[in-house]
Amino acid sequence: MSKTGATTQDVSAEAIAEEFGTPVFVYDARVLSGTLRELRGVLPAGIDILYSLKANPNISVCSLLNRAGAGAEVSSVTELMTALRAGVDPEDIIFLGPGKTPADLHACLDAGIHAVVCESLPELRLLDEAAAARDTGPVPVLLRINPAFHSKGSGLAMGGKPRQFGIDEEQARAARPLLDDLSHIEVRGFHAYMGTRFLNHRDVVSNTVQILSMAESLATDLGIDLATVDFGGGLGVAYFDNETDIDVAALGKELEEPVAAFRARHPDCRLVMELGRYLTARAGTYMTRALYVKESMGEEFVVVDGGTNHHMAAVGIGSFVKRNFPVRHLGRPHARADRVYTVTGPLCTPNDTVVKRAPLPEVRPGDLLGVERSGAYGPTASPVLFLSHGYPAEVMVDGDRAVLVRDRDRPEDLLARQHLADFDTVR
Ligand SMILES: *Cc1c(COP(=O)(O)O)cnc(C)c1O
Repeated sequence: MSKTGATTQDVSAEAIAEEFGTPVFVYDARVLSGTLRELRGVLPAGIDILYSLKANPNISVCSLLNRAGAGAEVSSVTELMTALRAGVDPEDIIFLGPGKTPADLHACLDAGIHAVVCESLPELRLLDEAAAARDTGPVPVLLRINPAFHSKGSGLAMGGKPRQFGIDEEQARAARPLLDDLSHIEVRGFHAYMGTRFLNHRDVVSNTVQILSMAESLATDLGIDLATVDFGGGLGVAYFDNETDIDVAALGKELEEPVAAFRARHPDCRLVMELGRYLTARAGTYMTRALYVKESMGEEFVVVDGGTNHHMAAVGIGSFVKRNFPVRHLGRPHARADRVYTVTGPLCTPNDTVVKRAPLPEVRPGDLLGVERSGAYGPTASPVLFLSHGYPAEVMVDGDRAVLVRDRDRPEDLLARQHLADFDTVR
């Protein structure tokens, strides 16, 4: 173990690579729980934080965040099972998503979760039918609202336009006759999610104020006692030059007054925020090993053993301009970055560029490179089966312990899902 190499807590990058291989995602347990605790410390007291498993569905990540105080926001039966097995109390789980199947709805009823977040009026009907078949009393529901207002500051703005997500605010306002028909569901409140990667806390404050006020007026129009309002989140972290993490201390401070005013009018209403990226991004490093270093027409390339297939967000597929995630030479993190490299992955596509012309210390074959801030939307949001590489290993570190929290897919695992058809005629 090199004394100068990078570590996650007390475990060196080289030791992790030797024991578990590369490419591998490494999660720092202390950063994960610390991020949540810090956030809970600065937000107005009593705001419940749900972890959006979409950002990183690893069961150990979910469990650790749960032990640090987060519930779960899930969008598939597997995510629901993950949260339950991780130990999340069903009362702290919500299920959302625009395309819930009858099987999804039945899984929600089986688990007895806090609320199903309904995204359309037809879905409300389907849920009512599913609940009627069981005779278990009214099912708690939040209506996801597509607000009439729109929001700024997000890379992916919601609200104010036609969307598959949520029920248009105006339709919801007029839904009392429908709700009267549906006796097996009980609307307990509202949900709105205005987008992801907000870096300016003022945008989140402004969204929250508008959502709280919209929820109040909807509750009045529909004659509902507000039991829960989920005002989304989408708190961002910095990835690129000239960005800074959202200022959560300022966010907490500026939410105090509107939240207290709302609480005074609705003392029993549960206030919920759902967060994925903010809770996990900074706790994860994507660690790859340099296979080759080569020059092409004056540019230095490092070819590493993983890329787009595990970390499409860092590669930037789908974005207009290539911007570099923070990357580190894990063998010599403190050496001067006096070289410029383009780091590329193993895929047979020119897009598979992890970072382009990034300053780094000299890289030799066998060196470890780490893409930092990679704990959110990594393999789960990447084409892990492209070129049949499969899912990478995931390791969680706490103190001097490194624990494998997900096996790397092996060729046999991937092939076991396929069936060799044995037609005896080929026409
Ligand atoms: C993706 C998503 C989240 C999580 O968003 P982050 O930006 O990762 O915090 C929460 N709620 C909904 C409805 C989402 O679609």
